[in-house]
Amino acid sequence: MWQNHDLKKNYDVVIIGGGAHGLATAYYLSKLGINNVAVLEQKFIGYGGSGRNTALLRSNYRTEEGIKFYDQSIKLYEDLSGELDFNLMFSNWP
Ligand SMILES: Cc1cc2nc3c(=O)[nH]c(=O)nc-3n(C[C@H](O)[C@H](O)[C@H](O)COP(=O)(O)OP(=O)(O)OC[C@H]3O[C@@H](n4cnc5c(N)ncnc54)[C@H](O)[C@@H]3O)c2cc1C
Repeated sequence: MWQNHDLKKNYDVVIIGGGAHGLATAYYLSKLGINNVAVLEQKFIGYGGSGRNTALLRSNYRTEEGIKFYDQSIKLYEDLSGELDFNLMFSNWP
């Protein structure tokens, strides 16, 4: 998985940036059956903010609509370690 690949001539979706948003977009597209996807990263995976943040996940930002959005995102995290068979060290405080 973590290796250089030759690029194909065509993709259904091209995502610029291998941070949390780009990778999550690719992952959830694949769950919808959209697999012909390229994530193009200029440096290395996690080079940007995603590889250097304080790792707090919270749903208390700014607007009512935003809170619902973040709530749903945190719910996705609850099952993600199991889905990926990789320990993301996610913990949810009461
Ligand atoms: C010090 C710090 C602490 C933070 N703490 C928190 C926190 O506790 N909780 C929280 O929710 N958020 C936190 N954040 C914010 C969070 O890290 C970012 O919102 C999040 O990582 C953004 O993800 P992203 O995928 O959009 O961008 P990034 O992770 O920055 O990824 C963008 C990627 O795109 C690549 N790229 C850019 N241009 C191109 C190009 N032209 N071609 C190819 N690749 C390109 C970059 O190399 C990079 O890897 C923090 C951020 C910082 C810096």
